[in-house]
Amino acid sequence: MTLRRTKIVATLGPASTSPECIAALIDAGMDVARMNFSHGTPDEHRERARLVRELAADRGRHVALLGDLQGPKIRIARFSEGKTQLEVGDHFRLSTSHPLDEGNHDVVGIDYPQLVEDCRAGDELLLDDGRIVLRVDSVGRDEVRCTVTAGGTLSNHKGINRRGGGLSAAALTDKDRADIVLAAELNMEYVAVSFPRDASDMHLARKLLADSESQAWLIAKIERAEAVADQAALDGLIEASDGVMVARGDLGVEIGDAELVGIQKLIISRARAQNKVVITATQMMESMISSPLPTRAEVSDVANAALDYTDAVMLSAESAAGKYPIEAVQAMARVCIGAEKHPTSQQSGHRLHEKFERCDETVALAAMYAGNHFPGVTAVITLTETGHTPLIMSRIRSPLPIFALSPNAQTLGKVAMMRGVQSIFFNPAELNSSDVNHEAVNRLLQLGHVKAGDWVILTKGDVYNSRGGTNSMKLLHVGERLV
Ligand code: PGA
Ligand code: MN
Repeated sequence: MTLRRTKIVATLGPASTSPECIAALIDAGMDVARMNFSHGTPDEHRERARLVRELAADRGRHVALLGDLQGPKIRIARFSEGKTQLEVGDHFRLSTSHPLDEGNHDVVGIDYPQLVEDCRAGDELLLDDGRIVLRVDSVGRDEVRCTVTAGGTLSNHKGINRRGGGLSAAALTDKDRADIVLAAELNMEYVAVSFPRDASDMHLARKLLADSESQAWLIAKIERAEAVADQAALDGLIEASDGVMVARGDLGVEIGDAELVGIQKLIISRARAQNKVVITATQMMESMISSPLPTRAEVSDVANAALDYTDAVMLSAESAAGKYPIEAVQAMARVCIGAEKHPTSQQSGHRLHEKFERCDETVALAAMYAGNHFPGVTAVITLTETGHTPLIMSRIRSPLPIFALSPNAQTLGKVAMMRGVQSIFFNPAELNSSDVNHEAVNRLLQLGHVKAGDWVILTKGDVYNSRGGTNSMKLLHVGERLV
């Protein structure tokens, strides 16, 4: 049985709402279901969340829920006719005083008064994810006057970015605050913050989650040029988060496509070095919105992210609004498995020149070192309360599967995002302490993940239900009576 190591985040939307479709997405390999709070009503999210929980439980699977906050994306207002056609060379104005419903071929309103302060003559403004480009000619008291340099159809509410960044509003809107409460209600394992500028935006989100009694881990979407302007800015944002998303849609618009691939590699490696999970997102299988097979370039993109050692790859419109959501998950799954055969996915640097900070971290890394160097070992088992030990283990490259055993449903969901880690329900508190090792290995035997004669490495703490308590590691020979 080939276990896929790279995880799949699939966004749910109108194309993936029926129980049949959600069941098929889980069967195809969806590890994390993303609810995009930019679209849909709270009740639609509640219903999809309920279905994911129920259908995953039916299958004995652990699928995490990720709530993705809309954030302060700056958007143009609306056109009288719903849209306009812009040609290269046309003059076009963005006005902070023009009626919001009355855009036309010359001007459209925008509900962001600071626009005139944030823009200078010569700037490039990118609309609709960069499909339309305007060059700023001059800035007035309440309008920015531009010339179209890349034309097309511009319709209501399209997003606007400035090349190089600099259009920014506070990261958490009133809607985001309400959606954090919804994420808490639905016990979501992950919440993603859109357009964070720095660590303070993440600290505020963490406080709001705590106020709602949510245990969710926080993902910072890296999608502003400011966030990657220098290593200190990036590291600060990563440090304040439990994970990051390489949000290539907005980020690519702000920093330009030439820089994007290198920055993706940097974000992934910095996140892993800081013991955080990382998702690579946006347009990975874009053509599958309307085609049952990915292009060679998309195959290569997903494989490249897997080789960069991302924890997860993500589908957006492909699974939320496309014609082939299930095929898209299947395609990602098979491409990841293929990429994971490559030697760079299996060889570890093992952090040889680092000092470790915590006891559980030390045991986790020792376990991976032992597993990667003792040829008989076929699995690493970690009894975990919070998911921290498997997180650390999975920061190390290895061909070995890591099995995270926990009685805690939230933990099993969180762990579903981690590269190379499989979630298994297991409650050691119900057993005599002398039977725990034996029963843990037995679970893996029953599931067919190990066989008699294999060696496995098992880590655990002396007390169950304690955070950070992992302090021991054992090498066990499967098939013998184990204590
Ligand atoms: P979005 O974020 O899909 O919410 O815009 C991801 C991205 O910008 O790539
Ligand atoms: Mn975005």
